[in-house]
Amino acid sequence: MSTPAHRARLVLALRSAGITNTSVLSAIESVPRELFVPETFVDRAYEDTALPIGYGQTLSQPLVVATMIQALELDDRVKLFEVGTGSGYHAAILSHLCRRVYTIERHKPLLAEAQGRFDILELSNVTAMAGDGMKGWPEQSPFDRISVTAAGAEPPQSLLDQLKIGGVMVMPVGGESRLQQLMRYRRTEEGYDSEVIMDVRFVPLLPGVASETGT
Ligand code: SAH
Repeated sequence: MSTPAHRARLVLALRSAGITNTSVLSAIESVPRELFVPETFVDRAYEDTALPIGYGQTLSQPLVVATMIQALELDDRVKLFEVGTGSGYHAAILSHLCRRVYTIERHKPLLAEAQGRFDILELSNVTAMAGDGMKGWPEQSPFDRISVTAAGAEPPQSLLDQLKIGGVMVMPVGGESRLQQLMRYRRTEEGYDSEVIMDVRFVPLLPGVASETGT
């Protein structure tokens, strides 16, 4: 079912798909993905595929998670902000590579489940909150890194403003029906540099906190 051998095999697959950063690979190897997927999908937890997590949301494909994390250029001094906690899988990996992770989710029940997983794994450097991540987390800003795991038509200005000079934000940009591109933005003294990392497909970044009915 799900053993350290499954995790090792996933890491090998990611390595041959071009993930070269060994810290990223060992962080992925240390997080039990089966804990983050609904029970019906536990058997598929180590396939390189996206999986549904409820409320119309998805846990991204491991290769996309790994590519995003590698593109963030992390080290253990980094204070990072994640928009879209979802299952918490991405944040759990980030917690092994950063000093502190602040993560926000607009679906309260998803946030509660993710918090339970952070507690089980004793990830003491992760702080999670229900709220609208498009506004950022002003009380904790500025951040060294921002990771957005839902797609927007353009990067929200409020998020770019909460990056330190030299800081990096990675976010999928594009519409729901057309192709999205994973973008990397680097804040400079004058403004921002941007570059395309890869083509991706993410659920949309939506404003506000979701209602109890799930929209
Ligand atoms: N990183 C997640 C994948 C999440 S899917 C994981 O590892 O499982 C994207 C998530 O972004 C969804 O849970 C969605 O509800 C959330 N989201 C979308 N717009 C948001 C917003 N404005 N603020 C916070 N979360 C948002």
